[in-house]
Amino acid sequence: MPSLGLHRTVEDMRAEVAAWKADGLRVGLVPTMGALHAGHLSLIEAISKNADKVIVSIFVNPTQFAAHEDLSTYPRQEAADLAALETTKTDAVFAPTAAEMYPEGFSTAVTLDGPALGLESEERPHFFGGVALIVLKLLTQTQTDVAIFGEKDYQQLMVIRRMVADLNLPVEIMAGAIMREADGLAMSSRNVYLDAEQRKIAAQLNVILQQLANNPASAAQAEAEAKQALLEAGFTKVDYACIRDAQTLGVPDAKTVARRALIVARLGETRLLDNSPAI
Ligand code: AMP
Repeated sequence: MPSLGLHRTVEDMRAEVAAWKADGLRVGLVPTMGALHAGHLSLIEAISKNADKVIVSIFVNPTQFAAHEDLSTYPRQEAADLAALETTKTDAVFAPTAAEMYPEGFSTAVTLDGPALGLESEERPHFFGGVALIVLKLLTQTQTDVAIFGEKDYQQLMVIRRMVADLNLPVEIMAGAIMREADGLAMSSRNVYLDAEQRKIAAQLNVILQQLANNPASAAQAEAEAKQALLEAGFTKVDYACIRDAQTLGVPDAKTVARRALIVARLGETRLLDNSPAI
């Protein structure tokens, strides 16, 4: 028998959280869009060490997709996701409908600056507004004490940390390490879009990322070399391959303490993201 509580409404989710909190328990949240893989499961394992009860949310958030993007084709496999979660330290699943999250008349948006500028926002200007809105809703809906986000989406993690600090949200934000396939490709729900030929090329992304991250040349030179290497490997477009300040995501300057290499390259329609600490 499944032991997971499955909640479709904010009211039901909150009732379970209220019962936990009445018992003095610490609650953790793992926000996902489903199509779960070992990367998601690693976040559950990590947060379970820092929370008494773990909620996994599954919601493919329409406000972070532009009209031309893959909202309708994004992989959805709720039954398989629930089965996978049964073997983890998940206590409850929050899987609301779009109408529950965005009822008729919904009129509120989140405006972002700082780490949300540039990189992903160049290609997807609507994206972080949608992500911040849904994360803000999930954090307040679940009233969680701690939430975890993957370093796989490094800019997203920085945007959320900034929002939580700026809005004084009473929640701790944890970061989860990037889980990879055996050949180094970062796990992603979108990897299923790759055909066999593209999947082979995709493995080069992390190889080239590591060269970029450890390139002793100037940032401009290292970035140019990485772009060239990606195109030679067979990537069809390089959205960016760059070295940034690991905190602000601006161009590194005298105040930079740590640097981060970030790449997004395309194989046909599929965008592959990866990033790594840089020297
Ligand atoms: P998604 O379902 O793709 O929106 O991702 C949900 C969460 O899982 C986000 O915090 C992602 O950063 C994280 N995540 C996605 N892929 C990985 C991965 N390969 N390793 C670790 N975390 C990941």
